[in-house]
Amino acid sequence: MKLQEIVTNRYNKSIADCTNEEIYFALLEMTKGMAKAKESNEGKRKLYYISAEFLIGKLLSNNLINLGIYDDVKKLLAENGKNLCEIEEVEPEPSLGNGGLGRLAACFLDSIATLGLNGDGVGLNYHYGLFKQVFENNLQHETPNPWIEKESWLTKTDVTYPIQFGGFTLQSRLYDIDVTGYDNRTTKLHLFDVETVDEGLVGDGIDFDKENIAKNLTLFLYPDDSDDAGRILRVYQQYFMVSNAARLIIDEAIARGSNLHDLHEYAVIQINDTHPSMVIPELIRLLMERGILMDEAIEIVTKTCAYTNHTILAEALEKWPISFLEKAVPQLLPIIYELNSRVAKKFDDKSVAIIDDENRVHMAHMDIHYGYSVNGVAYLHTEILKDTELNNFYKIYPEKFNNKTNGITFRRWLLHCNPELTQFFESLIGPGFKKDATELEKLGQFVDDEAVLQKLLDVKAGKKAELKNYLAKTQGIELDENSIYDIQIKRLHEYKRQQMNALYVIHKYFEIKAGKKPARPITVLFGAKAAPAYIIAKDIIHLILCLQELISKDPEVSPYLKVVMVENYNVTLAEKLIPAADIHEQISLASKEASGTSNMKFMLNGAVAIGTMDGANVEMHQFVGDDNIYIFGESSEAVIEHYAKADYVSKKYYENDENIKKAIDFIVSDELMAIGCKENLERLYNELLNKDWFMTLPDFEEYVATKERIYADYEDRMAWAKKMLINISKAGFFSSDRTIAQYNEDIWHL
Ligand SMILES: *Cc1c(COP(=O)(O)O)cnc(C)c1O
Repeated sequence: MKLQEIVTNRYNKSIADCTNEEIYFALLEMTKGMAKAKESNEGKRKLYYISAEFLIGKLLSNNLINLGIYDDVKKLLAENGKNLCEIEEVEPEPSLGNGGLGRLAACFLDSIATLGLNGDGVGLNYHYGLFKQVFENNLQHETPNPWIEKESWLTKTDVTYPIQFGGFTLQSRLYDIDVTGYDNRTTKLHLFDVETVDEGLVGDGIDFDKENIAKNLTLFLYPDDSDDAGRILRVYQQYFMVSNAARLIIDEAIARGSNLHDLHEYAVIQINDTHPSMVIPELIRLLMERGILMDEAIEIVTKTCAYTNHTILAEALEKWPISFLEKAVPQLLPIIYELNSRVAKKFDDKSVAIIDDENRVHMAHMDIHYGYSVNGVAYLHTEILKDTELNNFYKIYPEKFNNKTNGITFRRWLLHCNPELTQFFESLIGPGFKKDATELEKLGQFVDDEAVLQKLLDVKAGKKAELKNYLAKTQGIELDENSIYDIQIKRLHEYKRQQMNALYVIHKYFEIKAGKKPARPITVLFGAKAAPAYIIAKDIIHLILCLQELISKDPEVSPYLKVVMVENYNVTLAEKLIPAADIHEQISLASKEASGTSNMKFMLNGAVAIGTMDGANVEMHQFVGDDNIYIFGESSEAVIEHYAKADYVSKKYYENDENIKKAIDFIVSDELMAIGCKENLERLYNELLNKDWFMTLPDFEEYVATKERIYADYEDRMAWAKKMLINISKAGFFSSDRTIAQYNEDIWHL
């Protein structure tokens, strides 16, 4: 082990005498060196996974696991009186992502390296990430989330490009983060930055001068887009990302022998959602600059680019006004006009046009026409794309559409976050599941083995106690480890329906007040960030925090019901919360959640889902059967029909259901108004009563009934443990190794 040597060089003292911080930096140096030694760039065709987000989480432990030295390091440190878990706390979490889409990109990089595929990620090096969430007066506030230290996982490279915008040019600089594969090669996450970025530009909270592109370009992920300046800034960021990516791709392909006419044999670009879509016109432009004629350039690019769709929410599909592009990236417009007119000539159908009647460029449409593959991220999602949302495209290009159900890396979401469970499984079925997730299926032979089931419950109890200690120490939150942990953690969005869970809490509060006490105390845990400009989402957070305060101060209710919203939900917290969960909430309005991936993480850690037939829940249900997942709510077909007919009226449900009326009225009750802000609570009340766009109320009654059923079933501990084990044994399909193998088989052909 080189650690002692590094420690001596750096600090001239023994490991035992070092602070946790000193050891962290020594481990960082050691790990970077070991990862570098496994770098490899072999293979003719190379994948470039371009994404605005990479929610990679802390890297130290994951890298130690992937490099096969975790246990040795842990032991060496322990021998010197040090605790690896405490050292992990020193590492800042890079907040380079927002939610599921960014975490997916991170899991994919892990699997690409683990499968030994030649592929790198490309994105931006946001200095302050998304934002750090802090709660004050039961409201969300946003502050910068700095994560780049003097020494970090970033390695500065010599790669730099002049990136031209309308009226000015910025010099880029590439930073790399090594991505270690599990017992395999190291690939890279390429993060481009601009040398002139100035963190001093940020004033109060996350406010900054949105016009000063040279200084602000890589400060934040998803700058506030509630005004035009913020929206144009996103265009600047996106172009900066893809122009750099395109130049890197061309340079690397040439270095490997491409003459650019055969670029598609050397490179494949996966466009992760629409943020990188401008890579299409930019690559065409760069190829033309290098002497290739437009017809051929378009053909080459179409054979090189593949697009992943992540949403059917119309408002989330990017459409940029021509005027924005004219200002930020005028050089792209002639290409986009040409692409648009080619489409218009071929298809007399406005719904598939690239530029619409309001002079907006539909990024997804450009991807579909000028890419060779379009994939959804779960079975149901892809079916909805084909049948409804993108049906007009599907009719033109049926061969381009395919499904790739999302996955998660089991290294982070089992081996790292739940070593106790990992060890237990290894003792039962050997270590094969660590490389081949489908071997978890072998656990099925123990479903009637009481000793195994009891041990499973014991491990869960241990993780629940661990979470209790962690939250007490880091957030001053008190949990009852003997209560049921019922967890909903995900970005705050109305379609994910945290508001329905909150209404359930109110319902339960009334029941307890009326003397109907639950068999066992319930802890409802939330974790969620709301986009800074998403008013109703922030109002829902406000409601939850107010309920948390109200209930915790009510001695009649608090012994039986606790509401907790953890602050600044991120990957680090997910790794603590998920292994401790008994029940997980996957209650999006059917048809709206493309896949979900936290559902998979929970399943793998032996939590049982209550959920709608949405996203990957549909496939989970298929694997585990009716007895091992609690499904409720309207079907996606019914929901889609409601939208088509516009026949949903929330007030009817309010007027016809006493429980719903009581719960909604409570939002503006004296009790809550005394704790919270009138403006926020009234706005949310009115929203639910008069709009409820994501149809919370029709599913509410069945949701309540299903919750009662799941809580009751929890009391038969052996039957419950059996559900846990069946969930785990069927989780193998949701490994991102499987997902990535399918991408490679069907799309990338590396
Ligand atoms: C997995 C993950 C998500 C995605 O959660 P969903 O419930 O699938 O939306 C979001 N944030 C973090 C930190 C995650 O780890």
